[in-house]
Amino acid sequence: MAEILEARKKQVLVNGSDDYALECEKVSTAGSVSQRACVFCGSRVVLYPIADAVHLIHGPIGCAAYTWELRGSLSSGPELHRLSFSTDLRENEVIYGGEKKLYAALTELITAYRPSAAFVYGTCIIGLIGDDIDAVAARVEKEQGIPVIAVHSEGFKGTKKDGYRAACDALARLLGGDNDSAVSPRSINILGEFNLAGETWIIKDYYRRMGVEVVSCITGDARIGDIARAHRAALNVVQCSGSTTYLAKMMQEKYGIPYIRVSYFGIEDMSRALYDVAEFFDDDAIRENTSALVREELEKLLPGLLDYKKDLMGRKAAVYVGGSFKAWSMVKALRHLGMETVVVGSQTGSPEDYEYLKEICAPGTVILDDANPLELSGFVLEKGADLLIGGVKERPIAYKMGIGFCDHNHERKEALAGFEGMLNFAREVHCSVTSPVWKYAPARIRAAGGKP
Ligand code: SF4
Repeated sequence: MAEILEARKKQVLVNGSDDYALECEKVSTAGSVSQRACVFCGSRVVLYPIADAVHLIHGPIGCAAYTWELRGSLSSGPELHRLSFSTDLRENEVIYGGEKKLYAALTELITAYRPSAAFVYGTCIIGLIGDDIDAVAARVEKEQGIPVIAVHSEGFKGTKKDGYRAACDALARLLGGDNDSAVSPRSINILGEFNLAGETWIIKDYYRRMGVEVVSCITGDARIGDIARAHRAALNVVQCSGSTTYLAKMMQEKYGIPYIRVSYFGIEDMSRALYDVAEFFDDDAIRENTSALVREELEKLLPGLLDYKKDLMGRKAAVYVGGSFKAWSMVKALRHLGMETVVVGSQTGSPEDYEYLKEICAPGTVILDDANPLELSGFVLEKGADLLIGGVKERPIAYKMGIGFCDHNHERKEALAGFEGMLNFAREVHCSVTSPVWKYAPARIRAAGGKP
Protein backbone atom coordinates (compact mmCIF):
# COMPACT_ATOMS: atom_id res chain seq x y z
CA MET A 1 0.00 0.00 0.00
CA ALA A 2 1.24 3.53 -0.82
CA GLU A 3 2.30 5.52 2.22
CA ILE A 4 -0.46 7.81 3.53
CA LEU A 5 -0.07 10.46 6.24
CA GLU A 6 -2.03 9.67 9.40
CA ALA A 7 -4.18 12.82 9.04
CA ARG A 8 -5.15 11.77 5.50
CA LYS A 9 -6.05 8.17 6.14
CA LYS A 10 -9.80 8.80 5.79
CA GLN A 11 -9.28 10.73 2.54
CA VAL A 12 -8.32 7.50 0.80
CA LEU A 13 -10.34 4.31 0.53
CA VAL A 14 -10.40 1.03 -1.31
CA ASN A 15 -13.81 0.60 -2.89
CA GLY A 16 -15.73 -2.34 -1.48
CA SER A 17 -13.25 -2.95 1.38
CA ASP A 18 -13.29 0.29 3.39
CA ASP A 19 -16.79 1.14 4.53
CA TYR A 20 -16.26 4.69 5.85
CA ALA A 21 -17.40 7.85 4.06
CA LEU A 22 -14.46 9.51 2.33
CA GLU A 23 -13.38 12.69 4.10
CA CYS A 24 -13.20 15.69 1.76
CA GLU A 25 -13.84 19.44 1.45
CA LYS A 26 -11.18 20.23 4.04
CA VAL A 27 -7.96 22.21 3.93
CA SER A 28 -4.94 20.28 2.73
CA THR A 29 -2.90 18.48 5.38
CA ALA A 30 0.36 20.22 6.26
CA GLY A 31 3.29 18.29 4.80
CA SER A 32 1.17 16.56 2.20
CA VAL A 33 2.27 18.81 -0.73
CA SER A 34 -1.21 18.78 -2.19
CA GLN A 35 -1.77 18.84 -5.95
CA ARG A 36 -4.42 21.51 -5.37
CA ALA A 37 -4.06 25.05 -6.66
CA CYS A 38 -4.66 28.10 -4.42
CA VAL A 39 -7.81 30.19 -3.90
CA PHE A 40 -6.67 32.79 -6.45
CA CYS A 41 -6.10 30.09 -9.05
CA GLY A 42 -9.65 28.80 -8.44
CA SER A 43 -11.05 32.28 -9.16
CA ARG A 44 -8.92 32.64 -12.23
CA VAL A 45 -10.06 29.29 -13.66
CA VAL A 46 -13.65 30.52 -13.62
CA LEU A 47 -13.28 34.18 -14.61
CA TYR A 48 -10.35 34.28 -16.99
CA PRO A 49 -12.16 32.97 -20.08
CA ILE A 50 -14.27 36.17 -20.15
CA ALA A 51 -12.62 37.57 -23.22
CA ASP A 52 -13.67 41.24 -23.25
CA ALA A 53 -12.60 42.05 -19.68
CA VAL A 54 -9.33 43.19 -18.18
CA HIS A 55 -8.04 40.70 -15.61
CA LEU A 56 -5.63 42.43 -13.24
CA ILE A 57 -3.78 40.43 -10.63
CA HIS A 58 -3.01 42.62 -7.66
CA GLY A 59 0.09 41.09 -6.14
CA PRO A 60 3.67 40.08 -6.82
CA ILE A 61 4.48 39.05 -10.37
CA GLY A 62 4.88 35.38 -9.43
CA CYS A 63 1.12 35.01 -8.89
CA ALA A 64 0.61 35.97 -12.56
CA ALA A 65 3.03 33.37 -13.89
CA TYR A 66 0.46 30.81 -14.91
CA THR A 67 -0.65 32.71 -17.99
CA TRP A 68 -3.18 32.10 -20.76
CA GLU A 69 -0.40 30.73 -22.94
CA LEU A 70 -0.35 27.63 -20.74
CA ARG A 71 -4.11 27.28 -20.94
CA GLY A 72 -6.52 26.77 -23.80
CA SER A 73 -9.64 28.87 -23.31
CA LEU A 74 -10.49 30.20 -26.77
CA SER A 75 -12.42 33.27 -27.86
CA SER A 76 -14.32 33.85 -31.10
CA GLY A 77 -13.78 37.63 -30.79
CA PRO A 78 -11.76 39.82 -28.42
CA GLU A 79 -8.77 38.25 -26.72
CA LEU A 80 -8.11 40.53 -23.78
CA HIS A 81 -8.10 37.47 -21.53
CA ARG A 82 -4.85 36.35 -23.15
CA LEU A 83 -3.01 39.30 -21.60
CA SER A 84 -1.75 38.68 -18.09
CA PHE A 85 -1.81 41.98 -16.20
CA SER A 86 -0.24 42.36 -12.78
CA THR A 87 0.45 45.28 -10.45
CA ASP A 88 3.83 43.61 -9.80
CA LEU A 89 3.94 44.58 -6.11
CA ARG A 90 7.40 45.03 -4.62
CA GLU A 91 8.80 45.72 -1.16
CA ASN A 92 7.88 49.41 -1.33
CA GLU A 93 4.13 48.65 -1.75
CA VAL A 94 4.26 45.87 0.83
CA ILE A 95 5.44 48.46 3.34
CA TYR A 96 3.47 51.54 2.22
CA GLY A 97 0.44 49.92 0.57
CA GLY A 98 -0.44 49.10 -3.03
CA GLU A 99 -3.70 51.00 -3.53
CA LYS A 100 -2.10 53.88 -5.50
CA LYS A 101 -0.41 51.44 -7.83
CA LEU A 102 -3.65 49.52 -8.28
CA TYR A 103 -5.57 52.68 -9.09
CA ALA A 104 -2.94 53.76 -11.62
CA ALA A 105 -2.81 50.31 -13.25
CA LEU A 106 -6.59 50.04 -13.55
CA THR A 107 -6.94 53.53 -14.99
CA GLU A 108 -4.16 52.96 -17.50
CA LEU A 109 -5.48 49.55 -18.62
CA ILE A 110 -9.08 50.68 -19.01
CA THR A 111 -8.00 53.75 -20.95
CA ALA A 112 -5.75 51.71 -23.22
CA TYR A 113 -7.98 48.67 -23.88
CA ARG A 114 -11.56 49.96 -23.37
CA PRO A 115 -12.77 46.64 -21.86
CA SER A 116 -16.40 45.88 -20.98
CA ALA A 117 -15.41 45.26 -17.35
CA ALA A 118 -12.35 44.78 -15.15
CA PHE A 119 -11.65 42.16 -12.50
CA VAL A 120 -9.11 42.81 -9.75
CA TYR A 121 -7.80 39.66 -8.10
CA GLY A 122 -6.61 39.99 -4.50
CA THR A 123 -3.64 37.68 -3.79
CA CYS A 124 -2.07 36.55 -0.51
CA ILE A 125 -0.05 39.68 0.08
CA ILE A 126 -3.15 41.88 -0.32
CA GLY A 127 -4.83 39.99 2.50
CA LEU A 128 -1.75 40.65 4.64
CA ILE A 129 -1.15 44.33 3.92
CA GLY A 130 -4.87 45.13 3.88
CA ASP A 131 -5.26 47.10 0.64
CA ASP A 132 -8.92 48.10 0.26
CA ILE A 133 -9.44 46.71 -3.25
CA ASP A 134 -13.22 47.22 -3.01
CA ALA A 135 -12.76 50.95 -2.47
CA VAL A 136 -10.28 51.30 -5.36
CA ALA A 137 -12.55 49.24 -7.65
CA ALA A 138 -15.60 51.35 -6.71
CA ARG A 139 -13.70 54.59 -7.41
CA VAL A 140 -12.46 53.43 -10.82
CA GLU A 141 -15.91 52.04 -11.70
CA LYS A 142 -17.43 55.46 -11.04
CA GLU A 143 -14.78 57.29 -13.02
CA GLN A 144 -14.68 54.90 -15.99
CA GLY A 145 -18.34 53.86 -16.24
CA ILE A 146 -17.75 50.07 -16.51
CA PRO A 147 -18.09 47.36 -13.86
CA VAL A 148 -14.84 47.05 -11.89
CA ILE A 149 -15.08 44.06 -9.61
CA ALA A 150 -12.82 43.10 -6.73
CA VAL A 151 -12.35 39.34 -6.45
CA HIS A 152 -11.41 38.29 -2.93
CA SER A 153 -9.14 35.42 -3.79
CA GLU A 154 -6.28 35.71 -1.30
CA GLY A 155 -4.48 32.42 -1.77
CA PHE A 156 -4.18 31.43 1.88
CA LYS A 157 -7.79 31.84 2.91
CA GLY A 158 -9.06 28.38 2.02
CA THR A 159 -9.05 25.86 -0.79
CA LYS A 160 -9.42 26.19 -4.54
CA LYS A 161 -13.16 25.86 -3.94
CA ASP A 162 -13.19 29.15 -2.03
CA GLY A 163 -11.72 30.68 -5.17
CA TYR A 164 -14.62 29.31 -7.19
CA ARG A 165 -16.98 30.90 -4.71
CA ALA A 166 -15.21 34.28 -4.93
CA ALA A 167 -15.53 34.07 -8.73
CA CYS A 168 -19.25 33.29 -8.45
CA ASP A 169 -19.70 36.32 -6.17
CA ALA A 170 -17.98 38.43 -8.83
CA LEU A 171 -20.20 37.00 -11.60
CA ALA A 172 -23.33 37.63 -9.52
CA ARG A 173 -22.52 41.33 -9.65
CA LEU A 174 -22.85 41.29 -13.43
CA LEU A 175 -26.23 39.54 -13.56
CA GLY A 176 -29.32 41.65 -14.09
CA GLY A 177 -27.61 44.29 -16.23
CA ASP A 178 -29.66 43.62 -19.39
CA ASN A 179 -33.43 43.33 -19.19
CA ASP A 180 -34.25 44.44 -22.71
CA SER A 181 -32.87 42.08 -25.39
CA ALA A 182 -35.10 39.20 -26.52
CA VAL A 183 -34.66 35.80 -24.80
CA SER A 184 -36.47 32.61 -25.87
CA PRO A 185 -38.59 30.69 -23.34
CA ARG A 186 -36.57 27.62 -24.50
CA SER A 187 -33.28 29.00 -23.29
CA ILE A 188 -30.43 27.97 -21.06
CA ASN A 189 -27.17 29.18 -19.57
CA ILE A 190 -24.22 26.82 -19.76
CA LEU A 191 -22.34 27.01 -16.47
CA GLY A 192 -18.88 25.58 -15.75
CA GLU A 193 -17.77 25.17 -19.37
CA PHE A 194 -14.62 27.08 -20.27
CA ASN A 195 -14.17 26.65 -24.03
CA LEU A 196 -10.92 24.74 -23.75
CA ALA A 197 -9.80 23.90 -27.28
CA GLY A 198 -13.17 25.20 -28.55
CA GLU A 199 -15.39 22.80 -26.56
CA THR A 200 -18.04 25.45 -25.86
CA TRP A 201 -18.60 25.79 -29.61
CA ILE A 202 -19.21 22.04 -29.94
CA ILE A 203 -21.72 22.04 -27.09
CA LYS A 204 -23.46 25.23 -28.24
CA ASP A 205 -23.91 23.68 -31.67
CA TYR A 206 -25.66 20.65 -30.12
CA TYR A 207 -28.10 22.93 -28.29
CA ARG A 208 -28.69 24.94 -31.45
CA ARG A 209 -29.56 21.73 -33.32
CA MET A 210 -31.96 20.80 -30.52
CA GLY A 211 -33.76 24.15 -30.84
CA VAL A 212 -32.55 25.54 -27.51
CA GLU A 213 -31.13 29.05 -27.20
CA VAL A 214 -27.93 29.52 -25.21
CA VAL A 215 -28.18 32.90 -23.51
CA SER A 216 -24.71 32.81 -22.03
CA CYS A 217 -21.88 30.42 -21.37
CA ILE A 218 -20.27 31.02 -18.01
CA THR A 219 -17.54 31.48 -18.86
CA GLY A 220 -16.31 29.84 -22.10
CA ASP A 221 -15.99 32.43 -24.90
CA ALA A 222 -18.01 34.72 -22.61
CA ARG A 223 -18.78 38.40 -22.99
CA ILE A 224 -19.81 40.70 -20.19
CA GLY A 225 -23.00 41.62 -22.10
CA ASP A 226 -24.13 37.96 -22.27
CA ILE A 227 -23.57 37.44 -18.55
CA ALA A 228 -25.64 40.58 -17.88
CA ARG A 229 -28.69 38.87 -19.48
CA ALA A 230 -28.09 35.38 -18.06
CA HIS A 231 -30.68 35.95 -15.29
CA ARG A 232 -33.43 35.68 -17.93
CA ALA A 233 -32.71 32.15 -19.16
CA ALA A 234 -35.19 29.39 -18.30
CA LEU A 235 -32.63 26.86 -17.04
CA ASN A 236 -29.05 26.71 -15.80
CA VAL A 237 -27.12 23.68 -17.02
CA VAL A 238 -24.16 23.19 -14.71
CA GLN A 239 -21.18 21.18 -15.84
CA CYS A 240 -18.21 21.85 -13.57
CA SER A 241 -20.37 21.58 -10.47
CA GLY A 242 -17.60 22.40 -8.00
CA SER A 243 -16.95 25.73 -9.64
CA THR A 244 -20.40 27.06 -10.50
CA THR A 245 -23.10 25.26 -8.50
CA TYR A 246 -22.81 28.08 -5.98
CA LEU A 247 -23.75 30.58 -8.73
CA ALA A 248 -26.59 28.33 -9.93
CA LYS A 249 -27.99 28.21 -6.38
CA MET A 250 -27.75 32.00 -6.07
CA MET A 251 -29.59 32.39 -9.39
CA GLN A 252 -32.26 29.94 -8.27
CA GLU A 253 -32.87 31.91 -5.10
CA LYS A 254 -32.76 35.36 -6.66
CA TYR A 255 -34.24 34.80 -10.13
CA GLY A 256 -36.11 31.50 -9.73
CA ILE A 257 -34.01 29.71 -12.39
CA PRO A 258 -33.78 25.95 -11.76
CA TYR A 259 -30.56 24.10 -12.51
CA ILE A 260 -29.46 20.63 -13.51
CA ARG A 261 -26.01 19.05 -13.31
CA VAL A 262 -24.46 17.50 -16.41
CA SER A 263 -21.17 16.43 -17.91
CA TYR A 264 -20.17 16.72 -21.56
CA PHE A 265 -17.50 14.00 -21.44
CA GLY A 266 -17.99 10.47 -22.68
CA ILE A 267 -20.87 8.97 -24.61
CA GLU A 268 -23.31 8.31 -21.78
CA ASP A 269 -22.90 11.59 -19.96
CA MET A 270 -22.91 13.68 -23.13
CA SER A 271 -26.14 12.05 -24.32
CA ARG A 272 -27.68 12.28 -20.84
CA ALA A 273 -26.91 16.03 -20.71
CA LEU A 274 -28.82 16.68 -23.94
CA TYR A 275 -31.74 14.41 -23.04
CA ASP A 276 -32.06 16.03 -19.58
CA VAL A 277 -32.29 19.49 -21.13
CA ALA A 278 -34.86 18.23 -23.66
CA GLU A 279 -36.86 16.65 -20.83
CA PHE A 280 -36.87 19.90 -18.89
CA PHE A 281 -38.55 21.78 -21.74
CA ASP A 282 -41.10 18.99 -22.27
CA ASP A 283 -41.35 19.92 -25.96
CA ASP A 284 -41.86 17.24 -28.63
CA ALA A 285 -39.85 19.07 -31.30
CA ILE A 286 -36.88 19.45 -28.96
CA ARG A 287 -37.16 15.79 -27.93
CA GLU A 288 -37.18 14.63 -31.54
CA ASN A 289 -34.27 16.89 -32.48
CA THR A 290 -32.30 15.54 -29.54
CA SER A 291 -32.87 11.89 -30.43
CA ALA A 292 -31.92 12.57 -34.04
CA LEU A 293 -28.79 14.43 -32.97
CA VAL A 294 -27.60 11.69 -30.60
CA ARG A 295 -28.30 8.99 -33.21
CA GLU A 296 -26.42 10.88 -35.90
CA GLU A 297 -23.42 11.58 -33.68
CA LEU A 298 -23.21 7.99 -32.43
CA GLU A 299 -23.35 6.61 -35.96
CA LYS A 300 -20.30 8.72 -36.75
CA LEU A 301 -18.48 8.01 -33.49
CA LEU A 302 -18.91 4.32 -32.65
CA PRO A 303 -17.14 2.72 -35.65
CA GLY A 304 -14.13 4.96 -35.01
CA LEU A 305 -13.86 3.78 -31.40
CA LEU A 306 -13.68 0.08 -32.25
CA ASP A 307 -10.10 0.09 -33.56
CA TYR A 308 -8.85 1.86 -30.46
CA LYS A 309 -10.80 -0.45 -28.20
CA LYS A 310 -9.12 -3.55 -29.66
CA ASP A 311 -5.71 -2.38 -28.41
CA LEU A 312 -6.91 -0.88 -25.14
CA MET A 313 -9.05 -3.76 -23.91
CA GLY A 314 -7.99 -4.82 -20.41
CA ARG A 315 -5.60 -1.90 -19.86
CA LYS A 316 -5.77 -0.04 -16.55
CA ALA A 317 -6.13 3.68 -15.89
CA ALA A 318 -5.63 6.11 -13.02
CA VAL A 319 -7.60 9.37 -13.01
CA TYR A 320 -6.79 12.43 -10.92
CA VAL A 321 -8.62 15.61 -11.92
CA GLY A 322 -9.84 18.90 -10.45
CA GLY A 323 -13.58 18.28 -10.34
CA SER A 324 -15.24 14.97 -9.56
CA PHE A 325 -17.89 15.34 -12.31
CA LYS A 326 -15.05 14.77 -14.74
CA ALA A 327 -13.81 11.77 -12.77
CA TRP A 328 -17.24 10.12 -13.11
CA SER A 329 -17.29 10.71 -16.83
CA MET A 330 -13.74 9.39 -17.22
CA VAL A 331 -14.58 6.13 -15.46
CA LYS A 332 -17.50 5.59 -17.87
CA ALA A 333 -15.62 6.76 -20.98
CA LEU A 334 -12.67 4.47 -20.20
CA ARG A 335 -15.08 1.57 -19.80
CA HIS A 336 -16.27 2.26 -23.34
CA LEU A 337 -12.67 1.79 -24.45
CA GLY A 338 -12.41 -1.51 -22.59
CA MET A 339 -10.26 0.00 -19.84
CA GLU A 340 -10.68 -0.36 -16.10
CA THR A 341 -10.16 2.56 -13.71
CA VAL A 342 -8.04 1.35 -10.80
CA VAL A 343 -7.28 4.68 -9.10
CA VAL A 344 -9.52 7.75 -9.17
CA GLY A 345 -9.61 11.02 -7.27
CA SER A 346 -10.18 14.74 -7.40
CA GLN A 347 -9.06 17.99 -5.81
CA THR A 348 -12.50 19.32 -4.91
CA GLY A 349 -15.05 16.48 -4.71
CA SER A 350 -17.96 16.62 -2.24
CA PRO A 351 -19.25 13.71 -0.08
CA GLU A 352 -22.09 13.07 -2.58
CA ASP A 353 -19.61 13.08 -5.48
CA TYR A 354 -17.49 10.40 -3.84
CA GLU A 355 -20.50 8.27 -2.94
CA TYR A 356 -21.43 8.24 -6.63
CA LEU A 357 -17.85 7.35 -7.57
CA LYS A 358 -18.08 4.37 -5.20
CA GLU A 359 -21.22 3.23 -6.99
CA ILE A 360 -19.73 3.32 -10.48
CA CYS A 361 -16.23 2.01 -9.71
CA ALA A 362 -15.33 -1.66 -9.44
CA PRO A 363 -14.43 -3.19 -6.06
CA GLY A 364 -10.75 -2.66 -5.33
CA THR A 365 -10.56 0.76 -7.01
CA VAL A 366 -8.60 3.25 -4.90
CA ILE A 367 -10.60 6.47 -4.43
CA LEU A 368 -8.79 9.48 -3.05
CA ASP A 369 -9.40 13.13 -2.24
CA ASP A 370 -6.80 15.94 -2.46
CA ALA A 371 -3.91 13.59 -3.25
CA ASN A 372 -0.20 14.31 -3.31
CA PRO A 373 2.41 13.08 -5.82
CA LEU A 374 3.77 10.36 -3.51
CA GLU A 375 0.37 8.81 -2.93
CA LEU A 376 -0.57 9.07 -6.57
CA SER A 377 2.60 7.46 -7.87
CA GLY A 378 2.44 4.82 -5.12
CA PHE A 379 -1.09 3.76 -6.04
CA VAL A 380 -0.44 3.95 -9.77
CA LEU A 381 2.49 1.55 -9.36
CA GLU A 382 0.68 -0.72 -6.92
CA LYS A 383 -2.38 -1.06 -9.15
CA GLY A 384 -0.33 -1.42 -12.34
CA ALA A 385 -1.97 1.46 -14.24
CA ASP A 386 -0.96 1.89 -17.90
CA LEU A 387 -2.31 5.44 -18.11
CA LEU A 388 -2.68 8.50 -15.90
CA ILE A 389 -5.31 11.12 -16.74
CA GLY A 390 -4.70 14.47 -15.09
CA GLY A 391 -3.32 17.94 -15.64
CA VAL A 392 -0.06 19.83 -15.76
CA LYS A 393 1.00 18.67 -12.29
CA GLU A 394 0.27 15.01 -12.93
CA ARG A 395 2.04 14.81 -16.30
CA PRO A 396 5.58 14.46 -14.85
CA ILE A 397 4.38 11.75 -12.46
CA ALA A 398 3.23 9.64 -15.40
CA TYR A 399 6.37 10.27 -17.42
CA LYS A 400 8.66 9.45 -14.51
CA MET A 401 6.88 6.14 -14.07
CA GLY A 402 7.00 5.45 -17.80
CA ILE A 403 3.26 5.18 -18.41
CA GLY A 404 0.86 6.86 -20.81
CA PHE A 405 -0.65 10.27 -19.99
CA CYS A 406 -3.73 12.15 -21.15
CA ASP A 407 -4.08 15.86 -20.33
CA HIS A 408 -7.66 16.51 -19.29
CA ASN A 409 -7.07 19.81 -17.56
CA HIS A 410 -7.26 23.43 -18.70
CA GLU A 411 -3.99 23.13 -20.59
CA ARG A 412 -5.39 20.70 -23.14
CA LYS A 413 -5.17 21.77 -26.75
CA GLU A 414 -7.55 19.19 -28.18
CA ALA A 415 -11.31 19.21 -27.59
CA LEU A 416 -12.33 16.27 -25.40
CA ALA A 417 -15.96 17.24 -24.79
CA GLY A 418 -18.91 16.16 -26.89
CA PHE A 419 -19.15 13.14 -29.18
CA GLU A 420 -16.27 14.26 -31.36
CA GLY A 421 -14.29 14.92 -28.19
CA MET A 422 -14.79 11.28 -27.20
CA LEU A 423 -13.09 10.21 -30.42
CA ASN A 424 -10.21 12.63 -29.76
CA PHE A 425 -9.98 11.25 -26.22
CA ALA A 426 -9.82 7.66 -27.49
CA ARG A 427 -7.11 8.62 -30.00
CA GLU A 428 -5.03 10.38 -27.36
CA VAL A 429 -5.33 7.53 -24.88
CA HIS A 430 -4.49 5.00 -27.58
CA CYS A 431 -1.44 6.92 -28.84
CA SER A 432 -0.03 7.36 -25.37
CA VAL A 433 -0.76 3.90 -23.92
CA THR A 434 0.52 2.01 -26.96
CA SER A 435 3.55 4.22 -27.57
CA PRO A 436 6.81 2.20 -27.76
CA VAL A 437 8.65 5.00 -25.96
CA TRP A 438 7.73 3.78 -22.47
CA LYS A 439 9.97 0.76 -22.69
CA TYR A 440 12.94 3.16 -22.63
CA ALA A 441 11.75 4.93 -19.45
CA PRO A 442 14.23 4.31 -16.59
CA ALA A 443 11.39 3.31 -14.23
CA ARG A 444 10.21 0.60 -16.64
CA ILE A 445 13.74 -0.66 -17.25
CA ARG A 446 14.35 -0.89 -13.50
CA ALA A 447 10.98 -2.63 -12.96
CA ALA A 448 12.02 -5.23 -15.55
CA GLY A 449 15.25 -5.86 -13.62
CA GLY A 450 17.51 -3.95 -16.02
CA LYS A 451 19.83 -0.98 -15.56
CA PRO A 452 18.68 2.33 -17.11
S1 SF4 B 1 -0.80 31.09 -2.90
FE1 SF4 B 1 -0.83 33.33 -2.72
S2 SF4 B 1 1.21 33.96 -3.38
FE2 SF4 B 1 0.89 31.86 -4.16
S3 SF4 B 1 0.03 32.13 -6.22
FE3 SF4 B 1 -1.72 31.93 -4.79
S4 SF4 B 1 -2.21 34.07 -4.31
FE4 SF4 B 1 -0.14 34.11 -5.19
